Amino acid sequence: MSTIKTAIFPGSFDPFTKGHQDIVIRSLKLFDRIIIAIGHNTAKRRYFELDFMCQKIKETFSDLQNVEVVVYDELTASIAAQYDADYLVRGLRNTTDFEYENTIAQVNKNLKKDLDTVFLITSPEYAFISSSIIREVHRYGGDVSKYLPYTL
Ligand code: ADP
Repeated sequence: MSTIKTAIFPGSFDPFTKGHQDIVIRSLKLFDRIIIAIGHNTAKRRYFELDFMCQKIKETFSDLQNVEVVVYDELTASIAAQYDADYLVRGLRNTTDFEYENTIAQVNKNLKKDLDTVFLITSPEYAFISSSIIREVHRYGGDVSKYLPYTL
C-alpha cells in the first residue's frame, strides 16, 4: 500500500463549479493528493467542451501541486486502480444526491473491494449550485460568473 493517500474526485464537471472547488479544497485536509477525473462518455454530448473545461480546472488549481486533472473514459474503479487511489470523493447536497450516490458507491465497491467513497456535505453557500442549472442559465444568456471559480 502506498503511504501517499490519494483520492479520486470523479464527475462530469459540465461545468466545474464553486461547489466542486469547495469539495476539492476540503478533501485536501483528508488526503495527500486529489485527482479530479473528468468522466468523458463519448456517447454523451457535453455543453462545455472537454478540453476547455480541463484547462479551466487546471487553471483553478495551478498553485496546488497535489491536485491533478485527468480525463477518463472507463470505469471509475479502473482509474482509481491506475492512480493507486483507495478512495473516491463525492459531494452531497440533498436526499436526491444521496439516493444516486449510494447506488454508485455500492457498485464501485463491488467492482473494486478496497475502494471506499467518502462523502462531503455541501457547504451551505454552495448547496443550490448545480452544473445543470448553470447550463440552463448560460444557455439563455444569464450571468453565471459568480458560480464558477474561473472566467469563461
Ligand atoms: P456526475 O455527473 O458524476 O454526478 P457532477 O459533475 O454533476 O458529476 O458532480 C460531481 C460530484 O460533485 C457529485 O458527487 C455531486 O453530488 C457533487 N456536487 C455537485 N455540485 C455540488 C455542490 N454545489 N456542492 C457539493 N457537491 C456538489
